[in-house]
Amino acid sequence: MQNADTTKTKIGIIGGSGLGDRLAGSQNVEQVYVDTPFGPPSGPLLATTWHGVDVVFLSRHGEGHTLPPSAVPYRANIYALKAVGVTRIIASGAVGSLREEIEPTHLVICDQVIDKTHKRASTFFDKGVATHVEWAEPFCPTLRQSLIAASSDDKTLHDRGTYVVMEGPQFSTRAESHMHRSWGGDLIGMTCCPEAKLAREAEMCYALVAMATDYDCWRESGPAVDKHTLLNEIIGHLNNAADSAFALIEQTVKTLAGEDAPDCHCQSALELAIWSNKSKVSLTLVKKLAPIIGRYFR
Ligand SMILES: [Zn+2]
Repeated sequence: MQNADTTKTKIGIIGGSGLGDRLAGSQNVEQVYVDTPFGPPSGPLLATTWHGVDVVFLSRHGEGHTLPPSAVPYRANIYALKAVGVTRIIASGAVGSLREEIEPTHLVICDQVIDKTHKRASTFFDKGVATHVEWAEPFCPTLRQSLIAASSDDKTLHDRGTYVVMEGPQFSTRAESHMHRSWGGDLIGMTCCPEAKLAREAEMCYALVAMATDYDCWRESGPAVDKHTLLNEIIGHLNNAADSAFALIEQTVKTLAGEDAPDCHCQSALELAIWSNKSKVSLTLVKKLAPIIGRYFR
C-alpha cells in the first residue's frame, strides 16, 4: 500500500447507496479495491475529482445494502480511507428525530454523540499499545462550520444535534425513545459509532450530515395511518433528505477546493494520546497500523 500524500485535502464521503449512486451518475469514477489488516472495507472506494477536489466515496452498507449496522467493517473502512490519503470525512446517514422541530427530510450537522453500541470493535488500539484520544468534541468543528456555511436553507438545516447511537437492528421501544429524549438526545441512529471514533483515532476530520426520515416512536402517528403508507412516507422523506444532503455536500466540496490539509486538533489527535513506552510497542503492530501511527514511531 502506498504512503499517501497528506498535504492536500482529500475528502472521503461515507454514505448510503443513494448518495453513491448520485455521485457515480454525475462523474467518471474509478473503483479502487483496498485490503486492510482488518479485512476489506464495505466495498470498493469510488475515486474521482469533484469540483477540483480529490474525493473518495464509500458506501457504508456495501453493494445492495447487505451489511446491517452491526456488521459494517468500520475499522477496515476508516483504515482504507486513511491509507489512500483521505484527510477529511463527510459522512451521512439516516436517523429518526427525537425533537418536534427536527422534521422528517431535515438535515442535522451533529455536534454531540451518546454511544450505546456494544457489539462492535471500536478502536484500532485494542492491544499492544495504550492510546486514549480526546473525544469531548466528537465532530470536527472546522468541517462542521464548512457544512453549515454551505447551506442556503437554515429552516431545514439544524446546526447542532446530539446523535444517540444504538446497536439495533431493531428500533427502540417507546420507553427507550422517551428515555433517549430525556437524556438530551435529538436523533437516533445506528451507524455514527464507532465510525466517528475511529476517524478521530486515525487523525481525520469527521463531520456527519444526519438525514431525518421519521419521528421515531416517541411521537405517535395516530391510528389512521397504515403501515404501508407510513413506510412509503419514510422512503419519500429519505429520498428528499438524500437529495438535500447531496446538494449540501457538493456545495461544501466546492468551498474546500484548493485548500491544504486543515490545521485542526483532529489532525494531531494522537500527538499526546499514546501512553505506552514507544520502545515497548512491537514493530509488527507499528507496521500493521502504519498509515495511522507510523509517523509517531519514526
Ligand atoms: Zn478537524
